[in-house]
Amino acid sequence: MELDGKVIVISGASSGIGAAAARLFAAEGARLVLGARRAQMLDALTSEIGESGGTAVSLAGDVREEAYAQALVGRALDAYGRLDGAFNNAGIVGEMGALAQMSLSNWEAVMSTNLTSAFFALKAQLPVMTAQGGGSIVFTSSFVGYSNGGLPGMGAYAASKAGLIGLVQSAAADHAADGVRINSLLPGGTVTPAGGQDNPEFLQYISGLHPMKRMAAAGEIAQAAMFLLSDRASFMTGSPMIADGGMSVRLL
Ligand code: NAP
Repeated sequence: MELDGKVIVISGASSGIGAAAARLFAAEGARLVLGARRAQMLDALTSEIGESGGTAVSLAGDVREEAYAQALVGRALDAYGRLDGAFNNAGIVGEMGALAQMSLSNWEAVMSTNLTSAFFALKAQLPVMTAQGGGSIVFTSSFVGYSNGGLPGMGAYAASKAGLIGLVQSAAADHAADGVRINSLLPGGTVTPAGGQDNPEFLQYISGLHPMKRMAAAGEIAQAAMFLLSDRASFMTGSPMIADGGMSVRLL
């Protein structure tokens, strides 16, 4: 078991990559706290994991609120008495469109959900992990905003996801000596609700951008996250780890 006994918080666990990660991590022995806003979906997933022999509890809330980041960590400590890992994965694309026409409310919604939430997560998770003598924190960034990922109409999203990479590098440098590893994961296009799973034309367009000529399944990205959370990645910190089907090395 890759994550045997590890206590891990997952945000964005109600759907897509986060839900796939919850199923995988539980099957690999982790004890989980699942977070997202939709409580019913979290309850259903928690029950499913329990029926499969795994261990999970959930706490619904909004990652834009600092109190929720603290509450997720508190739920882990109440349920399991420790915190070994966090997969900070919740995110939104927001409205797509040219920056000159973009509303401030859209910009702020994307930034608070994708980037300010990371600041809150670190503030909640780091004290517990440093006191314990170690841990692993993973943020879901994106191929968008990195290397060849300059997709049109995604300025706010690209800025938020590129911001995560810088935040992670700085935080990793600050806490490497504490035994806390902090990495970002950069998925390529992934078939999920946010990844356009119900839009065949969009899926075809995004698939075509990848040298592999397909998008990732959510479970493939969950595997990459699991590696970073596991002891196999024991010498990795501050890394923007790419899992993008070759997108970042494609010829323009
Ligand atoms: P998804 O299926 O839409 O999942 C997004 C998750 O984030 C949901 O569980 C959602 O739960 C949660 N979430 C959104 N806003 C939230 C908020 N304010 N508070 C709490 N939870 C919130 O999309 P996905 O593709 O799996 O996305 C997961 C991550 O991967 C995101 O960070 C995304 O940017 C990133 N990513 C995706 C792709 C792709 O092609 N799919 C590529 C690169 C990176 P609730 O709605 O229940 O709150």
